Amino acid sequence: MQASHKALDRLRRGVDRFDVTGRILLVPQMPPFGTRLLVASFRAFGVPARVLETYKGLALGKEFTSGKECFPCQVTLGDILYFLKEEKRRLGKDFDPQRYVYFLPESDGPCRFGMYNKLQRIVLDRFPEYRAIPITYLSSEDAYSVAGLLPKKKARYFRRVAYVAAVIADVMDRIVWRVRPYEMRPGLTDAFMEEALQAMEKALVAFGPTRDFSRLYDLVEDIAKTAATFMDPRKPRRPKIGIVGEIYLRSHPDSNQNIIRQIEAYGGEVVDASIAEWLNYVSYERLRKAQEQCAQAWRRGHKAEALRAAKAVVHQRLENGYQSWRQHQVYGRVLRHLDIQPDHSVRHIEHFLDHDRHFSFDIGTEAALSIGGALAYIHEGFDGIVNVFPFSCMPSTVCSAVLKPLLLERRIPYVDAPYDGTSQPNRDVILKTFLYQAQQHQKARAHHTENS
Ligand code: SF4
Repeated sequence: MQASHKALDRLRRGVDRFDVTGRILLVPQMPPFGTRLLVASFRAFGVPARVLETYKGLALGKEFTSGKECFPCQVTLGDILYFLKEEKRRLGKDFDPQRYVYFLPESDGPCRFGMYNKLQRIVLDRFPEYRAIPITYLSSEDAYSVAGLLPKKKARYFRRVAYVAAVIADVMDRIVWRVRPYEMRPGLTDAFMEEALQAMEKALVAFGPTRDFSRLYDLVEDIAKTAATFMDPRKPRRPKIGIVGEIYLRSHPDSNQNIIRQIEAYGGEVVDASIAEWLNYVSYERLRKAQEQCAQAWRRGHKAEALRAAKAVVHQRLENGYQSWRQHQVYGRVLRHLDIQPDHSVRHIEHFLDHDRHFSFDIGTEAALSIGGALAYIHEGFDGIVNVFPFSCMPSTVCSAVLKPLLLERRIPYVDAPYDGTSQPNRDVILKTFLYQAQQHQKARAHHTENS
């Protein structure tokens, strides 16, 4: 009993929120653009963050897990173990664990993502030299508030800058997906976007602290304008493929074995669900909960509690309005020059669940977004849906069970793409067949439009 209390106490102290100013914040990679811009946002506020090199330590991640964990947990564990091993080798006796803080966000709700950082704490503690490296986190429970990670005033502003950075990264991804399949010379878009990303990182560090967002918008508009000139107008429009699924797997190219490039190579144009969609969903859920609390307290006659909840509702409404306003500003600048796919609003996604007939936001998890998001893509004229997820992922399996019959009924090509780090020899054939079906769907759609 005593021992288990000690272990719990150690977990609590070793996975905590505290002021990280001045410490090297180690951030695992998720979407490549998004992670680099998140790190640039931290730098703008005095935290020398860096992105961990990814996927090189997968063998380590697998060695220190049992095989029952979710795949993203193994990948991120491998990333941190590989980094620390290399850093120790590079610095020798100058290796000082006190310099680092490992950043691993979590979510509330039924998913195991809430446990990744605790499990990884236990693994790091198996190495005496890593015990002094704390893990810090943001949580969906308080809509990714950075309170505690930075001094109070900075924390408020950081959250806003990081949100805009996330939207800009989404938009830069969408520029790539819209332009690359039609580029005049192979490699043109990727080379240009790497330069553009470096310019955006610098701009975030320079203008983030003063929240001079117009400078960032000017830059993103220039990027879109230039990228649009790379498109060969003679190339015909390809079938549009929408990706939904688990957020880590669909946005981490190494883990999903570069599925976006693979689909492009087989003749598709891809749109992956955005990171801002998840952030907006978390905020939307917070508002729903606050409204529910307010209504319940009022019904029970607890006036003081109802008033507190009402204040939370107003606060959350303002926050959600702010996010939506900023998102429209960024997309608006790009849409002046390039017809990227606009983002789905969470309310729009919920609408496609057809009054809880297909799924309910009350159940929550990413399944709600993936099911509603896939149906929204179909409504917008997409020709196929891919559900990308870690093998055995609970919400994505639910999503598959709901979407498969629905899309079959509507004759929309659909495929599940589960990953666990191994290569599946038949994946290529499955994707090629899927793309063939999507091309047929595109032709049938064009034929139908001509004749109607
Ligand atoms: S969403 Fe899937 S991969 Fe992520 S924690 Fe839940 S079950 Fe695991």
